[in-house]
Amino acid sequence: MDDKGLKDNKNSINPEEKAGADKPSFCIGVGNDGLNFANLTLENGKKDIKALDLVELKALMSEMKQPAFRAQQIFKWLHKECAESFDEMTNLPLTLRKQLDDNFVIISAAIEKKLISEYDNTVKYLFRLFDGQCIESVLMQYKYGYSLCVSTQAGCKMGCAFCASTKNGCVRNLSASEILSQVYVAERDTGVRISHIVLMGIGEPLDNYDNVIKFIRLITSPDGHNLSVRNITLSTCGVVPGIYALIKEQLPITLSVSLHASNDEKRSAIMPVNRKWPIREVIKASKAYYEATGRRISFEYALVKGVNDTKTDADELAVLLKDLNCHINLIPVNEIDKSELKAPNKENVRSFQDYLSQKGLNITVRRTLGSDINASCGQLRSSVSTEVE
Ligand code: SAH
Repeated sequence: MDDKGLKDNKNSINPEEKAGADKPSFCIGVGNDGLNFANLTLENGKKDIKALDLVELKALMSEMKQPAFRAQQIFKWLHKECAESFDEMTNLPLTLRKQLDDNFVIISAAIEKKLISEYDNTVKYLFRLFDGQCIESVLMQYKYGYSLCVSTQAGCKMGCAFCASTKNGCVRNLSASEILSQVYVAERDTGVRISHIVLMGIGEPLDNYDNVIKFIRLITSPDGHNLSVRNITLSTCGVVPGIYALIKEQLPITLSVSLHASNDEKRSAIMPVNRKWPIREVIKASKAYYEATGRRISFEYALVKGVNDTKTDADELAVLLKDLNCHINLIPVNEIDKSELKAPNKENVRSFQDYLSQKGLNITVRRTLGSDINASCGQLRSSVSTEVE
């Protein structure tokens, strides 16, 4: 594969931005490069009310000469009842509802396509956002409850060779409201209560840092949806300064790191981000995350036939992770269009797993849910953009 992606991007991640950065300027979307336009005033001059936290809503109420308790009421309507219009907010005076409606919108996500697995009720959504961009979310049922895999960007600029989401680059960051809407709309649509969130859909969450943190703080607010912080998993391809910034947030979420190879040569060949932050930096940051939070790190390892599935790869992986309290998630790679990367057969996946288990590593093969609708993440989105073109 070529060297495109991170290198050619003028807004590219700044590798000089190391640990302890107060402002996460490693985020490509921060600044006025246009990627964050969903956070600004919308075209009709109205503002996004769902992205306001309780403190901001209280300030707004004071500005509107309203009592402070109205902020709590509005927050509850938006984040507990998942209201989609101000008309639903029946305990607010009509005049206030009208004022809000004149000045604000409640951002949502329209269901463009919905696929339901015949095997296990996994639901895959293609959502259309206010500007026509499409993103994907997947609702999965586990013994412990329902989990939603959400997208954080419309596209992705990380350029991983095996990933469908990055093939057409990144159009823009999602706002906190758009990430929230995936949860609220899926709950409203199915009538289930989602207890777990995985930030593993389209996009790189640490490349949209501010909106992702805001999303986490809003969805876990006791005055709103009250989802447990511990039930949130964030997956990163290895944006190292983002991991250090996350430590400072003091949010006990699970960090999942997409490793996929155990030496720099192989990892850089399939994940361009490795040229910015090589493996040793990713491992060092993961250790720091574990030490600061006490949360066991999860490493994703997509097995690709002939690329990272040999005994030598397994040996290197064992050495790399030997001092870390971690879990390894093996994923036989999902084959995507026009890609030559194939998954090893079941026996080889099993023997890779057994070999590392015997070395004392905590390793499982990811359970496949919704195998009949299991088009790789990002494929539904790209099929729609192709239709549009
Ligand atoms: N950008 C984040 C989260 C999105 S992808 C990250 O890289 O972690 C979620 C996970 O799916 C990542 O581990 C990613 O590497 C993996 N993935 C993407 N495409 C895949 C494919 N075709 N087969 C198997 N895993 C894939």
